[in-house]
Formats: sequence, structure tokens, C-alpha cells
Amino acid sequence: MKTSYHNHTLHSDGDASIEEMAQAAAQAGLGELGISDHLALHPEGVLLGWSMAEGQLGAYVDDVLAAMGGPGPRAGPERREDCASGERLARGPSILLGLEADFFPETVEKLRSLLAPYPFDYIIGSVHFADSFQVDAGRKPWEALTLEERKAKWEVYWRRVAEMAQSRAFDFVGHLDLPKRFAPNPDEGVSPAADSALNAIAQAGMAMEINTSGWFHPARDPYPSAIFLSEARKRGIPILINADAHKAKHVARGFDEAVKLAREAGYSEAVRYEKRRRFPAPL
Ligand SMILES: [Zn+2]
Ligand SMILES: [Zn+2]
Repeated sequence: MKTSYHNHTLHSDGDASIEEMAQAAAQAGLGELGISDHLALHPEGVLLGWSMAEGQLGAYVDDVLAAMGGPGPRAGPERREDCASGERLARGPSILLGLEADFFPETVEKLRSLLAPYPFDYIIGSVHFADSFQVDAGRKPWEALTLEERKAKWEVYWRRVAEMAQSRAFDFVGHLDLPKRFAPNPDEGVSPAADSALNAIAQAGMAMEINTSGWFHPARDPYPSAIFLSEARKRGIPILINADAHKAKHVARGFDEAVKLAREAGYSEAVRYEKRRRFPAPL
């Protein structure tokens, strides 16, 4: 069964509804479609244009639950048990309740308690910020930096990834090595900071996605690069393949290439989630 767990809708910066994503997922032959809109609790309270506001979380959850065949708007956090996988499969891809949540050391405890009442299937842990610097905001902010400053930003990025894993507030890592979107990795191979981050991910028992969107970004390389994927494999970090789709037609983009990449790194299976429990899945 093919799954796609990293997908954005009108609830954050995607341009399709959940229903439109589900139709595209059915056409792509996916067995499970996870919705994972952005929630970023910025430490200074900045509302980022690409994230839902904190106060919109309940409506987001209700909307996904309704699409799952659940009880509909404002019915509370418990998912109905009659949404068992078999019944949902008969109606097209099963829909899962996910979230792409930003890790900030200052707000991770608040995030944890905010999410606790809801029946999430999984939480993607993403680092988009190296302190106040958004690493994927464009080429220009990177070009304004010296090589040393760029290296320093990458180091902070890896440190945040390690801290995210140590927080144990998330289920799998989103787009590892994201800074390369606009700034090539300045380190030859795996730097000590990257090594520590990978170790922290393994120790925390987190999985990691192969995020195919990188193939369609300026770096023309998935997140993470093959070198980090084989390091993940060495450490026994499980994987799953995601598109980071912001349009319905991208819901399974690049998946065949990603399977090939995963096999080349030594993987023979993937994982899937239900209510924040992880299960093996075919690759
Ligand atoms: Zn992201
Ligand atoms: Zn995303």
C-alpha cells in the first residue's frame, strides 16, 4: 500500500482542499493520504504567512476528521472507532490526521500540550529556522552571508534537528537538510553537527521522510541527500516517502525515484502510522 503523509491544504499554504487532495490520491493509487498542514509557534509570536494560527488548530482537526468520515465539525478530539481502516479503504484512500509542526526550543512544551487533546496519527517535526533565520525563505538571505556565516547557519540547523529529536514531541523528521534548498551544504560529507543530529534521531526512535519536493527545487536533490540517507540506514532510522505537496497533482510526485533511492541506500521497507503508533509498511 502506497502512502503519502506530507501534504498541505488550504488550512496552511497549500492550494487545494482536503477533498481535492483525496481525489488526486485516489487517482495516484495511494492507500493512505495524510494531511499535514503547517503549525509554527514562533517564539516571538510572529504569525508566519505559511502557517495556520494557533487558534485555527481545532478547526483544522475537525475538517480532517470530517474528511475521514468522522463526526464532523466541533465534535471533540476523539476519533470515532467506526473509521477502521477497512471501511475507509472502501471509500478511497484512508485519510490520516497529521501535522507539520515547527520545532522551536522556546515553544516545544507549549506545542506538546496544544497537540495532546487531539487524535493525531503522526506529527512531522520540521526545522525551518536556524534561530531567527528562516533557512528556506529564498536565495537572497543566504547570498548576503559570508561562507563562515553560512556554515554557522547550517550548524545551528543541525543542532536544532538534534534538539527536536531529543524533545520526543514528534514522530518523523521532515525534509532533513532543508537549508540546501538555497544554500549547498558547505561541509564535505557528514559534519560532526550532522552526525550528532542523525545520532539523536536514531536514539529518539524517530523515523525520517524522503521528501521528493527537493528534486523540483533549485538543489534538484531530494531531502535528505543520498549521503544522509545511507547514514540514516546505518543507524537503523526507518523511512517513509513523502511529496510535501502543496498542489493536489503533486501528491505522489517523484515516488518511483524515491523508492529507487531508498533501495540503493539499503532499505527494504518503510513505515506507516496510526494514532502515533508506527507500523512496518512495504516500500
Ligand atoms: Zn516544511
Ligand atoms: Zn511541508
